Amino acid sequence: MRWTQTLIPTMKEVPADAEVPSHQLMLRAGLVRQLMAGAYSYLPLGYRALRKAEAIVREEMERAGALEVHLPALQPIDLFEKTGRKDAFGNVLINFEVRRGDRNVHLALGPTHEEVITDLISKLVTTYRQLPFTLFQIQTKFRNEERPRFGVLRTSEFLMKDAYSFSTDVEQLDAAYNAMYAAYCRIYARCGLEYLPVEAESGPIGGDASHEFMVPAGNGEDQIVRCSGCSYAANMERADTGRQSVDISAGADGATLTKVPTPGVTTIDQVCDLLHCDPQQMIKTLIYVADGKPIAVLVRGDHEANEGKVRRALNATSLELADEVSILEVTGAPVGFAGPVGIRCPLLADHDVAHIRDAITGANAADSHYTGVNVRRDYDLDATHDLRNASDGDPCPRCEGTLEIVHGIEVGHVFKLGTKYSTSLGADYVDENEKRHPIIMGCYGIGVNRIIASICETRYDENGIVWPLSIAPYEVEIIPLNIADEDVMSVATRFYEELQAAGVDVLMDDRKARPGFKFKDADLIGIPLRMVVGGKGLKAGQVEIKWRWQDNADKVPVDSGAAEILNRLATQRETMAASIPD
Ligand code: ATP
Ligand code: MG
Repeated sequence: MRWTQTLIPTMKEVPADAEVPSHQLMLRAGLVRQLMAGAYSYLPLGYRALRKAEAIVREEMERAGALEVHLPALQPIDLFEKTGRKDAFGNVLINFEVRRGDRNVHLALGPTHEEVITDLISKLVTTYRQLPFTLFQIQTKFRNEERPRFGVLRTSEFLMKDAYSFSTDVEQLDAAYNAMYAAYCRIYARCGLEYLPVEAESGPIGGDASHEFMVPAGNGEDQIVRCSGCSYAANMERADTGRQSVDISAGADGATLTKVPTPGVTTIDQVCDLLHCDPQQMIKTLIYVADGKPIAVLVRGDHEANEGKVRRALNATSLELADEVSILEVTGAPVGFAGPVGIRCPLLADHDVAHIRDAITGANAADSHYTGVNVRRDYDLDATHDLRNASDGDPCPRCEGTLEIVHGIEVGHVFKLGTKYSTSLGADYVDENEKRHPIIMGCYGIGVNRIIASICETRYDENGIVWPLSIAPYEVEIIPLNIADEDVMSVATRFYEELQAAGVDVLMDDRKARPGFKFKDADLIGIPLRMVVGGKGLKAGQVEIKWRWQDNADKVPVDSGAAEILNRLATQRETMAASIPD
């Protein structure tokens, strides 16, 4: 492609509303333009990169044995009513009525396709002999994200690869899951991304295992907990800590238990201000209702309870914060004065709570708190649990190492769904004995736009993007320094044509512009291999070749210019291939 014939609107200035590097660079390098919040147009360079990522995803899905399909984005709302996801998605689900003849039809734009695919399979599969198989598609999804942000990292329409596996038993599900997991590792490695598979919460959707694939990045919206000593990594919702149960049999003697007046003072901060204490000195008491029964969850004042951990510790299926009426019932006080001393419901405490001497906490009476609260003497616990989010420096649950918190971008998710959708949509099969069972499913998503954004977020320098060869919109950029110089133009054009004939994606900057201007743009758009053809160099029989990540160019004889480029490309492809897992 010749630069003068394409559309690459580069920008010198950093756009004011773009906060993160990927957003700034994708705008500045002319990859995308915003239509409105959460909606972006892909320009030629951006779309080439996106299509290359899509091609890698497709190749690896097919290599893993998945079959490509294409399902409607427009879906009838009643499928979401049957699975309960109309409510679960809430405002995120874009849905509306249209007029057809004399009636209204209620439709949704697919945020994902579990419903549609399960409905389809319920009509196509009858016997165990047809299973297992995995289907995938690459298609636009729609979600009315509350806060679309950071450019194409979170948008209201985005390209997703979604795959679904259908199995008769858990062994088949595990095999499908492992094949997808391995394909994901290959995809991100081929895309030149540093990635981290992390254990993830299965969530209310059910199922027993899921992993998110994260690209560690300072601006990532997700928090990842990982061990410095072993391969343990999990997302914040899921991450365990290696903290041990506290022996409370001895109890702790300390200051006298004292009730102090705290009129209208209900938050941790307000209590700390009034009583001149640190949040670490306080016991935060949260009243939950677990499977219909109230329970008081205790965490240290400066910690956050992790609801997934609370739910697992209680082995509860439903868990929600109690309303004012239930709080009054168990504490005898309005909201803000709950505490473990004398409360009328069971206690569930985090390990760290039992370490607090002379704690401060609500007194289960309006406008009052207790000071000098000590475990065993003033309230009792059977055991302590891991109930809070992990934090930097916590011990690892798997080894002697220490946990650290890093930020990441979720670029993919693999999930053992189980039978949630097959049950609610009637997708079942009969076994060898003519017995009917729901099909066991897995679902597997990749955000294709986020692959591109994650590359731009993690592979750049002060001058612009540094594309990996596999995803770069073009592999080689040829820069003739002076287009008015006929020799220069004829040599540059010869290379351009030769390389194109050899199947290389080449961009030639044939603009009438100063060399410095072209170099700046070349660095900004970040094409991996650059060849410079200049009048002086030609006189010495040379052209210059340089990788985007190299400081200085190599001078090579004009005659071997094309061979040199092809050689370097081949070597680079081999280097990348060597890092791809099996
Ligand atoms: P998030 O937690 O970031 O909102 P999610 O868990 O809702 O994502 P999934 O339903 O697991 O996302 O979708 C599969 C993949 O699609 C995600 O791993 C992510 O890469 C991508 N994705 C999800 N939402 C968006 C979005 N709004 N914009 C771009 N990509 C997205
Ligand atoms: Mg997810």
